[in-house]
Amino acid sequence: MSSGRDYVPRREDFVDRVIMVTGATRGIGKAVATALVKAGATVILHGKRSNALDRLYHELLPLGPEPAVAALDLERAQGESYQQLADEIERRYGRLDGLLHNAGILGDRSAIEDYDIGLWQRVLHVNLTAPFILTRCLFKLLRESDDPSLVFTTSGVGNRGRAYWGAYCVSKFGTEGLAQLLAVENESAGIRCNLINPGGTRTDMRRTAMPGEDPGTLPQPDEIVAAYLYLLGRASRGVTGLRLEAQA
Ligand code: NDP
Repeated sequence: MSSGRDYVPRREDFVDRVIMVTGATRGIGKAVATALVKAGATVILHGKRSNALDRLYHELLPLGPEPAVAALDLERAQGESYQQLADEIERRYGRLDGLLHNAGILGDRSAIEDYDIGLWQRVLHVNLTAPFILTRCLFKLLRESDDPSLVFTTSGVGNRGRAYWGAYCVSKFGTEGLAQLLAVENESAGIRCNLINPGGTRTDMRRTAMPGEDPGTLPQPDEIVAAYLYLLGRASRGVTGLRLEAQA
């Protein structure tokens, strides 16, 4: 079984492949989206801020196939906005070959006893419910692909409760459950679904979560993208139900 970490992108794994990355405007999502474009994929860049998406579009345009942008605030969007997004992808590409659920929020690092109820609901919504709704709306387009790949992002607290990680920890447990369900329910349909844990990476979220940590001890997002590309491209055809660690 491959860890994906030593994967070196090959053009034939990505050419003519339409892949959506949520939360592509910063951090790990931006690094994965950039690497995908360079590898030859057609990338749909998702984010909540149109101006940040436009900047990213122009940054990536010279690097590979023309990307597309999809603005959708996962905290506020209602069902019809998700459907509009799916309709737009269908009109433009007719299918979806890969979907990386990467967007997420941290919430508060506090004890369950003190955890703000509204914040709990926001974190569960952005990290777990919104990826469920998006996946559900995009199923029809995934079925049009000859090798559809769903990838969900977990965390070191996604399968082990760690004190003071609150709703974030619970949302990642839920993400692992959702991904496992999708993997077993769609095995015969050929839609594969895997989980990836990036491990501690030098991003805004990590800085907020671990303010006492020296960021210099952590890899940059572009140093951990190999396993992401492995799961999203044709190299991992047939692979489903895995939980990969992006870092050794
Ligand atoms: P960042 O905080 O750096 O980036 C988060 C991304 O998610 C941004 O693009 C942000 O958009 C987007 N996003 C947040 N809220 C919304 C929303 N309501 N609607 C649409 N987009 C939204 O996070 P990381 O890059 O560090 O994390 C990426 C993923 O990896 C997350 O799922 C995280 O849980 C996971 N992870 C990260 C680790 C790390 O050490 N960094 C470790 C383990 C897991 P905007 O720019 O508009 O805010």
